[in-house]
Formats: sequence, structure tokens, C-alpha cells
Amino acid sequence: MSKSADAPITEDLDWREVHERPSPSTMAIEPMRREAKEVTTAVFENNFNVDLDDALSSRSRKLQRELERRLGITYPDCPQCQTEGEWGQEPGEPLICYVCWEGPPEDIRHEVHRQWKRIFEVRDDE
Ligand SMILES: [Zn+2]
Repeated sequence: MSKSADAPITEDLDWREVHERPSPSTMAIEPMRREAKEVTTAVFENNFNVDLDDALSSRSRKLQRELERRLGITYPDCPQCQTEGEWGQEPGEPLICYVCWEGPPEDIRHEVHRQWKRIFEVRDDE
């Protein structure tokens, strides 16, 4: 069975294969960025079975954390609860703080989205 991270993400993907993918810490930035975008989009757009959804969500978080670390990405603090960078957003929903569940003002929302764009879309000099 292939352990390639290039296997297409469909409901037929074996969730165990997702856990066998290479550790993000061993990956180059561009493949990691491509996979992060692919995995995150797949989770957003599909209703996978629970095991596959869990595996992909976990993979997405690991890839994102490693990209944040390597690209030096930091997020603004929440003005409500002062927690740093626990921002999240479900598809079609507004950005919220995952600690106090408040939505931030416009300037913070803009900054969080700018940082996410650095992770998923923009090429940095490595
Ligand atoms: Zn908060």
C-alpha cells in the first residue's frame, strides 16, 4: 500500500495511511504547504467518516503548526481574553477565539487572515 502523501484525498483513503505520512519536521516547506492546503481543504469540503476526518484534522494541525514555526508566524492576542493566537474558523462562519468564543474586531481578523495566507498561499524566501 502506498504511503505517498500524494495519494488523492477521497472517502476511500485509508485513515491509517494518513498517520503513516512523514513527520512535518522532516519535510521541505513547499511540499508541506501544498499538503496543508490540500488536507485542510479536503476536511472543509467533505463529510468523511469519523476516523478519516480525525486523521486528516490532526494532520492538518500538525502541518500548520510546523509551518507556523518555520515561517515564524505569530498571531495577535485576543482582545477579550488575552489568549495568544487561538483563532479558528469553520467554513462559512466568522473568525472566533477558541478560548472565549468571541469574534475579534476587523483589524485583528484581517491580521489573522494575513498570517493564514502566508501559510497556505504565499511563497516566502526559505
Ligand atoms: Zn479570546
